[in-house]
Amino acid sequence: MMRGPIVGAELFTTVMAAAAWVCQCTGQCGSAHRRTGGTCQAPDTSRARLVAAPARPLPEREAFTATADQLRAWCPACWRHTASSAAAARAQATTDTQESLF
Ligand SMILES: [Zn+2]
Ligand SMILES: [Zn+2]
Repeated sequence: MMRGPIVGAELFTTVMAAAAWVCQCTGQCGSAHRRTGGTCQAPDTSRARLVAAPARPLPEREAFTATADQLRAWCPACWRHTASSAAAARAQATTDTQESLF
C-alpha cells in the first residue's frame, strides 16, 4: 500500500496554506502539466485530499522529521506517481550496488 508520510494537522495546514491549497507538482510525477502552465494546481477536494509530503520523496525515517519548508502539497495522483518512480529508482540503485559487489 502506498501512503504519503503522516504529518501533524498543524504542519499540514501550514504547508497547505503556503501552497494556496493546490497541488505544487511541477512535473515530478512524470506529467508536464502543460494545461495548467507547468504546475498541477489540482485543488484539495473531499474526493482527492491533498497530501503534505517532501518535495523529493525521502526515506521514511527522514520524512518524519521534515519541516514545513521542506514539504509540498501534492494531489493524490501526483504523489502516487512521484513516490512510485522514486521507489523504483531506489530499487534500481540497490540492484546496481549489489551487482557491483560480484
Ligand atoms: Zn497534482
Ligand atoms: Zn504532477
